[in-house]
Amino acid sequence: MVIKPVLIREDGRRVDGRLPEELRPIRITIGVLKNANGSALVEYGGTKVIAAVYGPREALPRHISIADRAVLRVRYHMAPFSTEERKSPAPTRREIELSKVIREALEAVVFTQLFPRTGIDVFIEVLQADGGTRTAGLTAASLALADAGIPMKDLVVGVAVGKVDGVLVVDINELEDQYGEADLPVGIAPNIGEIVLFQLNGVLTRDELKKALDMAFNASEQIYKVAKESLHRKYMKLIEEVKA
Ligand code: ADP
Repeated sequence: MVIKPVLIREDGRRVDGRLPEELRPIRITIGVLKNANGSALVEYGGTKVIAAVYGPREALPRHISIADRAVLRVRYHMAPFSTEERKSPAPTRREIELSKVIREALEAVVFTQLFPRTGIDVFIEVLQADGGTRTAGLTAASLALADAGIPMKDLVVGVAVGKVDGVLVVDINELEDQYGEADLPVGIAPNIGEIVLFQLNGVLTRDELKKALDMAFNASEQIYKVAKESLHRKYMKLIEEVKA
């Protein structure tokens, strides 16, 4: 029998000591891969995800190309070393589903019509998994697209809100995901105020859902700030190199 761990301590803090609305430490580095047109490494605490973007380039095989827009292809993949027990490198149903929902989220912001007949490939590789890999992956993918210079309506940031021991908490870790009552991964384009990814595992009341979404929007503002600073850092560095 599996014994469920206590997820909210007596002092109201979570298993890792965070308060309900506290994010894990976020670290973002832009342009980490030389051979990609754009790339980003995103860390939400112990979750580490890298995204690489290639394109717009010739869409191959040719028959996949579309006359009036670019084809966006997304591959979400967990590295075999990203989990405690080795994960098979072959794509699982979960990875195929996540590739699709992340693609749809990105399609909501990328101006694909600017690049007819081309392909834009987005590779998301989970290096270390500790909950929230699809949301960190979505953030990384949108930053890699921005780094590749692909025009978008807005950046997209992902965050998962969960319900653990009856309490709503943001940016859930693996333990909270595994033993919590519900989890709500969302993708938000903060400037245009749109939700571009919305999934729910478990059950939330209408009031809880409303509160969870408010918490997700607040969290997305914080993640967006770090994301914007990381893009700024890369381009300021580039400008200094050109000047020198
Ligand atoms: P997300 O990573 O977006 O939260 P899930 O809710 O499916 O997606 O997974 C929650 C967590 O469970 C992951 O972040 C990861 O830490 C762990 N996990 C998922 N799939 C596997 C797997 N095949 N092997 C081991 N751990 C996994």
